[in-house]
Amino acid sequence: MARYVFITGGVVSSLGKGIASAALGALLQARGYSVRLRKLDPYLNVDPGTMSPFQHGEVFVTDDGAETDLDLGHYERFTGVSASQDDNITSGRIYQTILAKERRGDYLGATVQVIPHVTDAIKEFIMTGGDEVDFVLCEIGGTVGDIEALPFFEAIRQLGNELPRGQAVYIHLTLIPFIPSAGELKTKPTQHSVKELRSIGIQPDILMVRCDREVPEEERAKIALFCNVRKSAVIQALDVKSIYDVPIAYHQQGLDDEVLAAFSITGAPPPDLSRWQWVSKRIAQPEGEVTIAIAGKYTGLQDAYKSLDEALVHGGIANNCRVNVRWLEAELFENHDPAPYLEGADGILVPGGFGERGTEGKIKAVEFARTRGVPYLGICLGMQTAVIEAARNLAGITGAGSTEFGTPAEPVIGQLTEWMKDGELEQRGIGGDLGGTMRLGAYEAVLAPGSRVAEIYGTHIISERHRHRYEVNMSYRERLEAAGLVFSGLSPDGLLPEIVEYPDHPWFIAVQFHPELKSRPFDPHPLFASYIEAALKQSRLV
Ligand code: GLN
Repeated sequence: MARYVFITGGVVSSLGKGIASAALGALLQARGYSVRLRKLDPYLNVDPGTMSPFQHGEVFVTDDGAETDLDLGHYERFTGVSASQDDNITSGRIYQTILAKERRGDYLGATVQVIPHVTDAIKEFIMTGGDEVDFVLCEIGGTVGDIEALPFFEAIRQLGNELPRGQAVYIHLTLIPFIPSAGELKTKPTQHSVKELRSIGIQPDILMVRCDREVPEEERAKIALFCNVRKSAVIQALDVKSIYDVPIAYHQQGLDDEVLAAFSITGAPPPDLSRWQWVSKRIAQPEGEVTIAIAGKYTGLQDAYKSLDEALVHGGIANNCRVNVRWLEAELFENHDPAPYLEGADGILVPGGFGERGTEGKIKAVEFARTRGVPYLGICLGMQTAVIEAARNLAGITGAGSTEFGTPAEPVIGQLTEWMKDGELEQRGIGGDLGGTMRLGAYEAVLAPGSRVAEIYGTHIISERHRHRYEVNMSYRERLEAAGLVFSGLSPDGLLPEIVEYPDHPWFIAVQFHPELKSRPFDPHPLFASYIEAALKQSRLV
C-alpha cells in the first residue's frame, strides 16, 4: 500500500506548490521509489477546459484526454510519469458525480451532505490506484482558509486517521516575507497559516518556507516552536534560477530526508541526482543562444503557455543553447507590417489558441516566416493559420478562413463533426456543449515516407496529444499541395491532416497537435530539438 504525502499551501497562492510537489516526487524517485502525483482543485468548474488562460494558465491535456491543471505538466516533466484523468479532480467534478448519483437514486433515503458524501468521494479519488506505487503525493490547490477548499482539507484530515499509522504525512508550504522598512524577515504569516490548518485538525509534519533570502537558524527555531514542528522539519525553500534546480536545492535543505523520517523510513540510500545535476549545468552554462518570436494571444500571462515555454527550454538543452523568447501579442501587427516585431528572431512560432482576436496578425507572422526563410513551428491554431496563409497567398483562395471566426467564403478550416477514437466513431454537432467535447488526448498519426517530420521523429507512426474543435478541410488538400504545402502527417484513416510542411523551406512544420505537452527535460521532444537546431543555424546566418 502506498504512503501518502499531502501538500497544502498557506499565506498566499503562487508559491510554487506544484513545483515543490513535483520536485519531491523526483527526489523520491531518485531514491528508487515509484511515485504518483495528484492535484485536487477546489473550484467549481468541472475541469479547467472552459476557463480563460488568463484566469487559470494553460490547460494541460493528458494522454487519456483529460483537460487538467497545469501542475500536472510539472509533475510529468519532473517525474516522467504520464498523468491520467485520475490525477486531477475539482469540486465541480465531485459534485457532478454526486448529483448524478443522487438523481439516479443511489442515495435513496439519505440526506446527501458534504460530510460524509463529498469527503468520501474525495477520499475515493485520492485512494484509487494507491496500491500501484510506493508514494502518492496529493497537492491541494488554493490556500488554507479558502471556503471552497474546506471539504478537501477535511478529507485529508480524515485519511490521517483512516490510513494505518505512519502512512500519511502533511507538508505545508508558506511564505516568509522580508519587510524592508524593518529590515526583518517575518514569521507571523506562517504562524497564522499553521494555526488555521491546526484549527481544522491538521498538524503539519513538515513546513516548507518560501523566502527570497536565507532564513537564519533562530527564525527557523522560532517557527518550529510556534508551529509545533521539529526544527529539522522547517525546510527553507529559496528562489532558484531555473525550476530544474529545485530538486537539488530542496535535497540540500533536507526535504527528502525529512519526508522519509516522518514516515519512519530508515536506511534509505541517498538519491542519485546525477541527471538533475546534468540538466542544471546544461541550463546554467549554455554555449550558444537563439531568439524565438512567439506570436500569441495570451502573452501577458506567463502561465498561459507553460508547457510551450518549457519545451523550448528542453529544445535548448538538446542543443546546448539558451532559448530567449520574444513574446508578442499578434494583435499588435494585425494592421501593420510585422517585420519590426519579427526581424532578428531566429525562429517564429504560432502557438495554440482560441477565438479570432489576433489571428490576422498570426497569419502575417506565418507569411513573414515562409517568405523570409525563418524556421517556423506552428502548433494547433498555428497550423490552421499556416494553412489559411498558404491558401490565400499561394493557392489563390482569397476568401480562405476558419469557421471558428465566422462564415468565410472558403472554409479551409472547419469544425470537426466526426472522427475515430479507439475504433469508435465520435460525433459532434455544431453548437453543442463546449466543455470536454473537443478532440482531446493522444491520437496516432502516420507520417509520409521521405518527409522532414518522418526524418525528425525517426519513425512513421507517432502518438501526440490533441485539443481542438476545428480541422483543415481536406477538400482543399489538392489545391494546397499543388501550391507547395505538403500534407506529411495524417490520422491513420487518412481523413484528418495532422502535419503540413514546406520541403523547400529551411524548416517549416505545422502540427495539429501539441508536441509541447510531451516534452521533458531529459527527453526533449524531437520537434523542439530539431526546431531549435534550425534556429541555431539561422542565427549563424545573420
Ligand atoms: N481553436 C482551434 C481549434 O479549436 C485551435 C485549438 C488549439 O490551438 N488548441 O481547433
